[in-house]
Amino acid sequence: MGSRSQTELKTGLQRRLGNIFRMRDEEINALADSLYKQRVQAWKTAIAENAKACGYTGAIPEPSGRDAQWLKSMSRLDADSIAKTWRKDVEKEIGRLYEANHRGNRYYYRKGIDEWNAKREVWKSRQIANQTEMTTFGFAQARFLGENEGLVALYTFVGPPPVCVICIRLYGMGAVTKQVMQEYPTPIHFGCTHTWRIMPGTATGIDPGKLWVGGKTPRKRAA
Ligand SMILES: [Zn+2]
Repeated sequence: MGSRSQTELKTGLQRRLGNIFRMRDEEINALADSLYKQRVQAWKTAIAENAKACGYTGAIPEPSGRDAQWLKSMSRLDADSIAKTWRKDVEKEIGRLYEANHRGNRYYYRKGIDEWNAKREVWKSRQIANQTEMTTFGFAQARFLGENEGLVALYTFVGPPPVCVICIRLYGMGAVTKQVMQEYPTPIHFGCTHTWRIMPGTATGIDPGKLWVGGKTPRKRAA
């Protein structure tokens, strides 16, 4: 009988705690906004980097049209998924804290979860920032190449020393054509920090001043 009431207490307390530590809608919205700002920045950086490698030195506009839409919807999806993961993780941690001390009160749990979260934040925030930056880079580069169809260049796989089989292979390939690099859109895998870079001096086919560098409608190009 005693163990039964304890189980019920545990369930009730855990459920209440789960609700206390759940991310609220306002928090998820604020997170989506913050991720969108990061993505806008990463998008501009990626477009600027690709355009610069083609000789373009002008300004990069704010993303608009389909670019802004993609950045916004990805930020929303990410915020929802981060909130879902957080909920799952925090519930697991509540369970762990319970196993460590069946008599813990709400202060015990708050302290335990604060400590657990501080440690989790260290790697989690870096992981999220990386993933946000790398997926945005891949998207922006694909958009840049898609809009600047006539561009011909060579590409190299750049980033830290690779550890996964595919990245090691791509890293070792040296200069490749657009056809090859487009078969392997970055990030190659979750946590991958590699990108394709246009090799300086190899870009031809479009006058730098006529490159698409953002905006809804492509600029008129010379035939
Ligand atoms: Zn990689």
